[in-house]
Order: sequence, then C-alpha cells, then structure tokens
Amino acid sequence: MSFINYEPKFKNNAATTKVYLDKYRSIDIICIKCKCTYRYFSSAHIDVTKENRICCQVCKHNVMVPITAGSILSDMEGDERKELISKWHYDMFQS
Ligand SMILES: [Zn+2]
Repeated sequence: MSFINYEPKFKNNAATTKVYLDKYRSIDIICIKCKCTYRYFSSAHIDVTKENRICCQVCKHNVMVPITAGSILSDMEGDERKELISKWHYDMFQS
C-alpha cells in the first residue's frame, strides 16, 4: 500500500472526534509529536483548541489524528501505521 501522499488529518477534527467518541464509547487518537496512541473513553477528556483541533495532554501540541472507521489509519497494520506516523512526525518536526 502506498501512503506517501496522505496528509495527517489533525485540522478541524475535534468536534467530529467527540461525536464519534460519544457514539462508539472509545477512540484512539495518535499524537504525531509523541508518536503515541492515546485511548479516550470520555469526550470530556479531550482538550480542544479554539481552532477545533485536539490538543495532546502530554506534549501540548495540537497535532493529534483520531483513528476513526474509514480513516486511512484504521485500515493499516501496526507496522504500517507506525511507519506513516514516523513519516508525518519527520515531515513536521525534523525536516
Ligand atoms: Zn503529544
């Protein structure tokens, strides 16, 4: 699978993420800065910025990408997903 052209969807996603979480009871959100996946069980625990982005509670960057059904990340195997997250991280913080 080629994913080279996928862009991380961390813009304008907080409100829809909360709706998704309320419906499915949990959601995994990846922080591209931390390169970690965090699982949330309550939308009250998701920090939302004025720009409708999700703010990471660990590193305080608002570069979080939710894994929702139908997103590119939800269809990936663990290693493939890690690779894509590493690429995004590199593009944003090291290039
Ligand atoms: Zn983080």
